[in-house]
Amino acid sequence: MSDCIFCKIIKGEIPSNKVYEDNDIFAFNDINPQAPVHILIVPKKHISKSLDVADSDKELIASIFMAANKLAKEKGIAESGFRLIVNCNKDSGQEVFHIHFHLLGGRRMKWPPG
Ligand code: AMP
Ligand code: ZN
Repeated sequence: MSDCIFCKIIKGEIPSNKVYEDNDIFAFNDINPQAPVHILIVPKKHISKSLDVADSDKELIASIFMAANKLAKEKGIAESGFRLIVNCNKDSGQEVFHIHFHLLGGRRMKWPPG
């Protein structure tokens, strides 16, 4: 997707603060952090939103959880706790239509979310 901001970040065409990368996944600090740790974990494959996840993406989605666990441990929030959030479509507030998982931690979260 040539006009997708996260595809451009993955390709290095837009700078980001990368915290993890492998063959299938790219993770970087959110530009507008909502918690002491706020990382966006994205598949390199352009999937617009969670509604578009397909059978063939099963391994990819599982590997995002593995990356989130690794990052949570590295950032010291695994034991204190964290959230892994995917926004989908308008009511969720999704702004970037390249699926991404928000890894948030380092402070006490509220429930219900805003
Ligand atoms: P969402 O509302 O779930 O679509 O989240 C989009 C997220 O992307 C927001 O938390 C933004 O702060 C973040 N974001 C947008 N542009 C950038 C960027 N260039 N670098 C890092 N994070 C970004
Ligand atoms: Zn994209």
